Order: sequence, then structure tokens, then C-alpha cells
Amino acid sequence: TDSDVTLIGLGLMGKALAGALLGAGHRTTVWNRTAAKAEELVAQGALLADSADSAVTASPVIITCVSDYASLQQVLTPVADGLGGRVLVNLTSGDSAQAQEMARWTEKQGGIYLDGAIMAVPPTIGTAAAVILLSGPESAFTTHQSTFDALGTTAYLGEDHGLSALYDVAGLSMMWGVLNAWLHGVALLGTAGVNASTYTPFAAQIAQETVGWLAGYADQVDSATYPPDDATLDTHAGGMTHLIEESERLGVNAEMPRLFKALVDRAIAAGQGGSSYPVLVEQFAQPRATS
Ligand code: NDP
Repeated sequence: TDSDVTLIGLGLMGKALAGALLGAGHRTTVWNRTAAKAEELVAQGALLADSADSAVTASPVIITCVSDYASLQQVLTPVADGLGGRVLVNLTSGDSAQAQEMARWTEKQGGIYLDGAIMAVPPTIGTAAAVILLSGPESAFTTHQSTFDALGTTAYLGEDHGLSALYDVAGLSMMWGVLNAWLHGVALLGTAGVNASTYTPFAAQIAQETVGWLAGYADQVDSATYPPDDATLDTHAGGMTHLIEESERLGVNAEMPRLFKALVDRAIAAGQGGSSYPVLVEQFAQPRATS
């Protein structure tokens, strides 16, 4: 082969990925639908493939980063034959079903598939701050880990190709949960003339304290036992009522605490008022068999 690794898709993210591979000394072939976007990388030593087909066959590892799965299929379908015996690492954003479907398709061509999610913006690519989630066959990950490490901090999640996409969206849920709770507090304190910067150290302290509970609560969820060592759901419900009433009285949007309360009320109606908070997982998850 001509190079160690091929990068297909040189948008904002693809360019950063290719730059990091070159910076780490990997012989890198690049291809982009709009060839002009490769110029800077070629000046840095990248090899420019003259077609998607020669890009695929240039390296044992092919990293793709295009807009979406429809674009990915447009690029790869005509060059599918070339994937045999190679490792395709797709960092295009998508959902878990798309990743699993892409894995089946790649395996049908005789290739090996790893799916990835990039938890970073382009300027951080190539630094430890850029977290790249990868899932699929572990042997493919370990064989090529030194290549992936050039892109940032890689985390291997498991054999199920859908895991990268699932961690990706779960991470977003966590992020928006924290951000919306913080903004609700900013609005509450704003009614008393306290600005966001003044309130925020307190908010950060509470968020950190709450994060500290997660590992213990995860054990409760995994064992489906919810001993109320700290506070019962009934007690939480009382606090939520204060939050809703205070918000409404001050003219602050109360939709979020009302949603929290609706979930808790349902669990209490199901007889779980004496359990600890994470029993609420049953309002989110499908019922499942416990061992
Ligand atoms: P850009 O819009 O900058 O680049 C899109 C890339 O896809 C271009 O290389 C474009 O080629 C290519 N492309 C689109 N459609 C086709 C097609 N039909 N055939 C061939 N190539 C096509 O997007 P980004 O680089 O920012 O994002 C790429 C992926 O990375 C996305 O899935 C995004 O969600 C993900 N991502 C991006 C992050 C970011 O901060 N930018 C963060 C985390 C993930 P052309 O140049 O010819 O148009």
C-alpha cells in the first residue's frame, strides 16, 4: 500500500483529523469530493488520491468523516470492492442503527468496521482534550490504536457497533440536563437582581456534589434495589413542589420542574414513594429482566 491511513472527507472536521495524522508522522492519503480542500494538507505532506477508489485501496485503514450516512453511502457504494481486507473507521455522526447497518454492509464487502463518534470541535483534534469514542471488533481497535491515538484521547467501548452513537447521544442528554438546570437557576436568581456570574459558583458546586452520587446510584440501578439511605422519593416530591410554586410566583418558566414532578408522581402512584431517587429509571427505561 501507498500509505498507512486514508482520510475521506475534508470538511472542517476531516481536515483537522488529517492534519493530526500527518502531524503524528503517519503516511496519509486524502480524498475529498471537492479536491481544492486538500491543497493545504498536500502542502503538509499528504498524498492526494485521484479518485475515491484509489483512496480506499491506498491504505489498510480508511477513516471517513462526511456530513451524514447518505453522503457516506454515495462515496463508498461505487468503491465497495476495494474495502475487502481493510478496516473502515467511520467518524461521520449518526445513530446506532445506522452504525450497525454500516457494519453489516462493510462486512459483506469483506471489510472490518469500527464506528466512531467525535466528542470535540476541530481545533482540539490531535490533543488529549479531543475524545473519540470507538466501537466494533476489539482486535481492529487494538491493532490500529496508535493511529487513532494521533486524533485525540480514544475510548474503546465494546464490540456492539452502535455503542459509540449511544454514548454520544447519552452524553448530549447529560450536557443539556446540566445546562437547562443551570439556566433555570439563573432565571430564578435573576428575579432577585443576582447576575449569572454571581450565582454560578454555587450552581457548579451543587452540580459537582450531585455528580458524586452517580456511582452509588448506578449500583442501585444495576441491582434494581433502591434503599432510601439519603432521601425518599416522597421527600423529593415535596422539594419539587417548592421549586414549581416559587418559579410560577416569580414568573419564571416552570415547565422543567413540572416535568420532573410528573415523573416522580407517576413513580409514587406506582407505590415507590419510599424508595431512593434512582427508582425513577423505571419511568425512562423499558422494564427489563434483573438477575
Ligand atoms: P463539513 O460540512 O465541514 O464537511 C462535510 C464533508 O462531507 C465535506 O468533506 C463534504 O465534501 C463531504 N460530503 C458531503 N456530502 C457528500 C457527498 N454526497 N459525497 C461526498 N462527500 C460529501 O462538516 P464537518 O467536517 O464539520 O462534519 C463532518 C462530520 O463530523 C459530521 O458527521 C459531523 O456531525 C461530525 N462532527 C463534526 C464536529 C464539528 O465540530 N465540526 C464535531 C463532532 C462531529 P465537499 O467538501 O465536497 O462538500
